[in-house]
Amino acid sequence: MSVPVSAAKMAEVQLKDVPVENEPKATSATSPTMEPVVKAGDPSPGFLTPNTKMPQASAMKRTETQQNGGDAFVNRDGTVAEAPRLKKIQFADQKQEFNKRPTKIGRRSLSRSISQSSTDSYGSAASYTDSSDDETSPRDKQQKNSKGSGDFCIKNIKQADFGRREIEIAEQEMPALMALRKRAQGEKPLAGAKVVGCTHITAQTAVLMETLSALGAQCRWAACNIYSTQNEVAAALAEGGFSVFAWKGESEDDFWWCIDRCVNLEGWQPNMILDDGGDLTHWVYKKYPNMFKKIKGIVEESVTGVHRLYQLSKAGKLCVPAMNVNDSVTKQKFDNLYCCRESILDGLKRTTDVMFGGKQVVVCGYGEVGKGCCAALKAMGSIVYVTEIDPICALQACMDGFRLVKLNEVIRQVDIVITCTGNKNVVVREYLDRMKNGCIVCNMGHSNTEIDVASLRTPELTWERVRSQVDHVIWPDGKRIVLLAEGRLLNLSCSTVPTFVLSITATTQALALIELYNAPEGRYKQDVYLLPKKMDEYVASLHLPTFDAHLTELSDEQAKYLGLNKNGPFKPNYYR
Ligand code: NAD
Repeated sequence: MSVPVSAAKMAEVQLKDVPVENEPKATSATSPTMEPVVKAGDPSPGFLTPNTKMPQASAMKRTETQQNGGDAFVNRDGTVAEAPRLKKIQFADQKQEFNKRPTKIGRRSLSRSISQSSTDSYGSAASYTDSSDDETSPRDKQQKNSKGSGDFCIKNIKQADFGRREIEIAEQEMPALMALRKRAQGEKPLAGAKVVGCTHITAQTAVLMETLSALGAQCRWAACNIYSTQNEVAAALAEGGFSVFAWKGESEDDFWWCIDRCVNLEGWQPNMILDDGGDLTHWVYKKYPNMFKKIKGIVEESVTGVHRLYQLSKAGKLCVPAMNVNDSVTKQKFDNLYCCRESILDGLKRTTDVMFGGKQVVVCGYGEVGKGCCAALKAMGSIVYVTEIDPICALQACMDGFRLVKLNEVIRQVDIVITCTGNKNVVVREYLDRMKNGCIVCNMGHSNTEIDVASLRTPELTWERVRSQVDHVIWPDGKRIVLLAEGRLLNLSCSTVPTFVLSITATTQALALIELYNAPEGRYKQDVYLLPKKMDEYVASLHLPTFDAHLTELSDEQAKYLGLNKNGPFKPNYYR
């Protein structure tokens, strides 16, 4: 039977029904569908979620100059060196000085939250109203919103109207959050929740915050990245009564000051944490450990933050339950596949203006990210080759119509090389030497180790910065390759990420908060949990009306035959 999934139908889905499936059995405090996630180093028992990815410590290391598009690099032995023979064009945005406020520690040492947060979670497009002419630190300004409240610290409250338009545009692509808000007219599952958040402050986050507020929560928010705040959006939030402490271009000192202003307030104590990168959680652990007595749970979105939670859990120091949103099925499936399918072309186009039709491209790795990249390039008329180490993914590539090759077979002829393996040294100097003139080289994997960029920092090669995030590396015979984002994630460095994908993640975050906040005593221990399959399915179902999708319902007979509940979950927990 085919049933239209209308918004009205979705509204009938009882939020409170979702967790009920996870009620603990009398014998166990942990819900059967909410198993603690495997802890780093544990042997892997069958029920644990496979595919949990831990970042390499080395992947987190960035130097300040690298983050600013500068020219220092980290040698393999960890020392920092200068790039050889660099010809460089200066760009206006590179010259910008963000904050001249003297701090005890000087400018932010970028080895922490910038590198960690910005490399594994999404920022949005740059702020559209970059008031770089206003050099006064927001900390030195006395601003009030139109209702007279001054409990915020942002760049310029006068940008609120413009920010409001940005938020309204984002709302159109975040249907599930808007559906949750409709439900909030009837019930407030977050009534009494005091959520302190530390995420990118963008229009998409604003939609999330306003949804949490509609569901009954009070929110105080800081940015998880010193560059990613959309100032006008922060202004709109402050005007709307949110206590936001963030601006684009914070210093190290500002960054922690903003976080502190969120949590350190007389008469207000958070009972939920929503974090992206783990810095907020870290701050509360360090400065206000007693706060955890009242905190009901942590929701963490990023690879890095989740890794830190696992470490805490392993050390027996995690004192509240935590929800790992990063590894939920919907996030992985949509972020990795669809987001990359959309943003690979955007990243390449913005940086190089390349035409894709007829170009020969090799994609290294045919996992979710590789599949997305290959599909997009094929659709544009590119001739796509794939390299793989895993025969299953390799067979998938073949059956999807791609030529499976070894990199050395095609390296001389290809126009574009894209790595998406999550591995290291996939493109080494030998291959870079053999590439043809003009070959574009870029990475879509998490870490900047996939292309051996360090091997290009040798005296005989000349580096020429031709655009922001675009280097020409020139061989003595005049051959040049086009290296994008110095081997860092292309789409996060050079393009934007579709709001609809962020909607899926934001909805998952909202549901994780609702679940942890409303969970009865004992459902969750002091451990790291994945969202149950049923909640993942719920997040997906909330996005279906956008497509006027018609979901088939199981008949009683079919449900019995498959051994499923008609309302889900439809797949076992281990299904990815
Ligand atoms: P995945 O594990 O599904 O796929 C990686 C594939 O690479 C695997 O099939 C593996 O067999 C293959 N591989 C490993 N080493 C290889 C080698 N030397 N040569 C050829 N193939 C090799 O992972 P995924 O979900 O596709 O993610 C890939 C990377 O992209 C990860 O680092 C992930 O963190 C990152 N990621 C990026 C984005 C983005 O927006 N750019 C989004 C999500 C994930």
